[in-house]
Amino acid sequence: MTQELRTTDTRVDALFGVDTFSKQVMQKRLPKEVYKSLLKTIDHGEPLDPRIADIVAATMKDWAVERGATHFTHWFQPLTGLTAEKHDSLVSPDGMGGVIYNFSGADLTQGEPDASSFPSGGLRGTFEARGYTAWDPTSPAFLNRHGKAVTLCIPTGFVSWTGEALDTKIPLLRSMEALSKQALRILKIFGTDTGVTRVVTTLGPEQEYFLVDREMFYRRPDLVTCERTLFGARPPKGQQLEDHYFGAIPARVLAFMHEAEEELFRVGVPVKTRHNEVAPGQYEVAPLFETSHIASDHQMVLMEILRRVADRHGLKALLHEKPFAGVNGSGKHCNWSISTDMGVNLFDPQDDTHTNLQFLTFLCGVVRGVDLHADLIRASIAGAGNDHRLGANEAPPAIISMFLGEMLSDILVQVEQGLPKRTIKGGTIELGARSLPSIPRHSGDRNRTSPFAFTGNKFEFRAVGSTASVAWPTTVFNAVVAESLDFIATEVEKAAGNNPSPAKLQAAVLAVLKSVIKQHKRVIFDGDGYSPEWHKEAARRGLPHLRDSVEAFPVLKAKKTVDLFKKYGVLTKAEVESRYHIAVEKWVKQLVIESEMMISMARTMILPAALRHQAELGEAVNATEGAGVDCDDSVKALEGFVALVSTAREALVKLEAAAAHDHDDPMAHAHHIKAKVRPAMSVLRAAVDALENHVAADLWPLPTYRELLFLK
Ligand code: ADP
Ligand code: MG
Repeated sequence: MTQELRTTDTRVDALFGVDTFSKQVMQKRLPKEVYKSLLKTIDHGEPLDPRIADIVAATMKDWAVERGATHFTHWFQPLTGLTAEKHDSLVSPDGMGGVIYNFSGADLTQGEPDASSFPSGGLRGTFEARGYTAWDPTSPAFLNRHGKAVTLCIPTGFVSWTGEALDTKIPLLRSMEALSKQALRILKIFGTDTGVTRVVTTLGPEQEYFLVDREMFYRRPDLVTCERTLFGARPPKGQQLEDHYFGAIPARVLAFMHEAEEELFRVGVPVKTRHNEVAPGQYEVAPLFETSHIASDHQMVLMEILRRVADRHGLKALLHEKPFAGVNGSGKHCNWSISTDMGVNLFDPQDDTHTNLQFLTFLCGVVRGVDLHADLIRASIAGAGNDHRLGANEAPPAIISMFLGEMLSDILVQVEQGLPKRTIKGGTIELGARSLPSIPRHSGDRNRTSPFAFTGNKFEFRAVGSTASVAWPTTVFNAVVAESLDFIATEVEKAAGNNPSPAKLQAAVLAVLKSVIKQHKRVIFDGDGYSPEWHKEAARRGLPHLRDSVEAFPVLKAKKTVDLFKKYGVLTKAEVESRYHIAVEKWVKQLVIESEMMISMARTMILPAALRHQAELGEAVNATEGAGVDCDDSVKALEGFVALVSTAREALVKLEAAAAHDHDDPMAHAHHIKAKVRPAMSVLRAAVDALENHVAADLWPLPTYRELLFLK
């Protein structure tokens, strides 16, 4: 399921997908029978016929070699949240002065990377470090170009030898399967399943990121190591300048965008770059939606391409959730919907939505799922970077609620009361100026403050962090919705009985939806999610509020989570627990690195610069007094500065003491970091930022926010 890339741009037509082993390429090159058989796997999820692997491999190899490939790799997404590849040569010497190309069906379908270097969260004893990659024929292979090196990348899943998923893709595929099964039951109830073999989830993840000058980036050890500034005084006007930056995109940035777009087109990632900036130096790229596991693969490719192309333009792409304090952070808005394999979007409300019971059923499935598992959805986006973002006054709050908009909220109220009778029309927005036409207002209007919003014919999950792999939150979401569709289907089947009359079916559906709405409407909130009143109201409604990752992590291994994933075949108990362990360990590791980096920068860069400045101030006082001129002011300034230096030094000592504690148990360590290390980091940061505002610019050892954000 792919949104159409409608364009008159010949550049796109010429480039799109040239480096993907797409269906078109397969159709052209594979024997007809083989292509047909493969298509059954790709489009309908049927198991791969092992007999065709050799033919597909040979064809893929020829295609890749013609396009300059010398190596191939099984490309996968281990639980680090990154991608991994191990390159093998496609060519080898033939012993007669020439080369032969080796790439068999076995090479295509299975690989054995050294699994011990990837985290398994305890899934795999070190004595049995085996892990296998298995070809995912449903996601197109592509060529990765790095200068002259061209590598054939084969999307794969990564499993342990006992069959446990060691990656983010396999659970995503399983969750899609689970959702498909339950969604089909709903379609069957309404008699709309004719010709439908599967229901797929679609995903369009919008990526926000910052660009900074590369040379300045390398002069900031915090950016190099943590991708975020650990220090940095805010520029005088900060984001108030933001309007000024709309529109005027520097030439270098435009060149970067153009090239990144081209690279994405080549590998078949359908993007439309958005040239708007929310914060100074911030940009966004929005792909067109695709079936969710392909969108998720493409999202990983997109992040890599942004980084790689930025480098070539003397820039650095920062994907971190919060590279700069006091400046908007970055998210990854996950637009999500479900669609039949015939291309019907099941979240299209259509006209007269109040009569569209099937739509309302799917909608109530989401409402129930989000309410029952708001804590798990929150936990699925936990991470060190997102802690800086969620709940701050710029990003969705850490309380998971849903925005439905006036029209849908009104219909749900009607269902709760009986038979829905009306659909509020969007109306128009008056622009106030006579010369401008009034524009029709979409009834699912935007509410930027909601973490989870219905936006016309899809949901937008805005709380996902900008560095995150979208596979995991999507997996959680699919599972949560599958469970509720299962519940609703079962209840309706019970109430309606076999072959119900239309009237009986309608009554049964309405009764079930009514009770779902009654029980779960507390999660619906159309107001301002940033307001303090909402926090109070949410508490009154009993909605979970997991303020940070440390509070959220335990949900990942809660019994309720394990039961959900087990029941729908998405993750086993061991797989769930491994994900919990890896998430906690990753968080701790990131915070340990950040605190160590802070300490080192403060000790070896900041304090020495401050002392030089202090010495200059001291010399100035001496020289002035020596010349017989009264300089009480300068003495006061010196005293004030010395006090700032002492404050910073004390803060440094305190952070060192806090950071020296270690714990064997990662969760205990995480609690210690949250209680002691993080607060000490904030105090040190404040002290250093105060110094930055006083130290002579030529002595300050780090590029400032002004330089990083505004110089392009
Ligand atoms: P909007 O006007 O709401 O911003 P866009 O068409 O620009 O809508 O969509 C924003 C993002 O949502 C894009 O990435 C787009 O591909 C994605 N999107 C649109 N429809 C769907 C859908 N049915 N399923 C998943 N994502 C979708
Ligand atoms: Mg968006």
